[in-house]
Amino acid sequence: MAAMPDRLILAEPRGFCAGVEMAIKALTWMVRIFEPPIYCYHQIVHNEWVVAAFERVGVVFVDDISQVPEGAPVMLSAHGSAPQVVEEASRRAAVVIDAVCPLVTKVHHEVRRLAERGYDIVYVGHRGHDEAVGTVAEAPHAITLVEPETGLGDFQPKDPDKVALVAQTTLGMYEWEEVLRSAKEAFPGLWTARKSDLCYATTNRQSAVAKLAELCDLILVVGSDNSSNTQALVRVARERGVEAHRIDSAAEIQPRWLEEASVVGLTAGASAPDHLVAEVIERVAPRFGFEVLSVTSEGEYFPLPPQLRGFVTVLQAVVEAGLTARPPTEPGWLDRDREWTAAKALEMIGT
Ligand code: SF4
Repeated sequence: MAAMPDRLILAEPRGFCAGVEMAIKALTWMVRIFEPPIYCYHQIVHNEWVVAAFERVGVVFVDDISQVPEGAPVMLSAHGSAPQVVEEASRRAAVVIDAVCPLVTKVHHEVRRLAERGYDIVYVGHRGHDEAVGTVAEAPHAITLVEPETGLGDFQPKDPDKVALVAQTTLGMYEWEEVLRSAKEAFPGLWTARKSDLCYATTNRQSAVAKLAELCDLILVVGSDNSSNTQALVRVARERGVEAHRIDSAAEIQPRWLEEASVVGLTAGASAPDHLVAEVIERVAPRFGFEVLSVTSEGEYFPLPPQLRGFVTVLQAVVEAGLTARPPTEPGWLDRDREWTAAKALEMIGT
């Protein structure tokens, strides 16, 4: 048994997904454009460090839209909001920017369409999670929520030929596959999305952690307790018989974990900033350094919400009015958005 880890293997991809990148950059623009306080319905992304960073610059996170004062600017989180919340926000706030991830929006559309067509919808998700609450609210009369761990349970449709199975985007792949298998058995005419609702970031990070599990005797997952995809990464590792722990930061590593490990695997949930991962590498201090294990590369990019793009364009015009005009060939802020990362945005707000 090694006294300290020999090696560390870093999973790729890990950390920020395209939806989280977009949401963090969008809230950063809100902070730049509007006077604080700026309100955000639900945590912008489920990460303690990111939430604290925005709180320091005047963002107030609320769990009830009635807590937003009339006329204040408000952002809706990446997890997607119930239609009633969007409506109420539009009534109260001067400006509402919805930072919902387009892959969550896709599931909302799916649910609405299926409900209109008379389907009994089984939604596989975690009860009380922001994304699940928002999605179920699209058609509560037509949806039954089932937990991935317990599956269909005693679900009984009105018509067994008209059942649809949809999912929270951040489920564990093997949990989803199990529910899918039993649903297909019970309802041969089952409707389900061709490529499943689990998003690319969820499946890629879980594939990487599954590979890590073949090579490591301890896996550390950086991410917050309320982050569903982070928790799924821990479960995927444990399911493969490897000791795995979720940590918010390097400070939470317990020395005895490292004493018993020779090869440490490291990954991060989709809302965890990469500098926290770097701090974990430093803390683990593997004797023979670290290497990267890459299962795929990701090029997904989601542009800022359309309503916000309008504000950014106006702000740029105002700034440029006092300066020499930008040559038409030079890219504007929005043209450079793809290169401007969430990490840079967080640096800009002084984190
Ligand atoms: S984890 Fe997937 S669904 Fe959630 S914000 Fe990221 S890309 Fe979107």
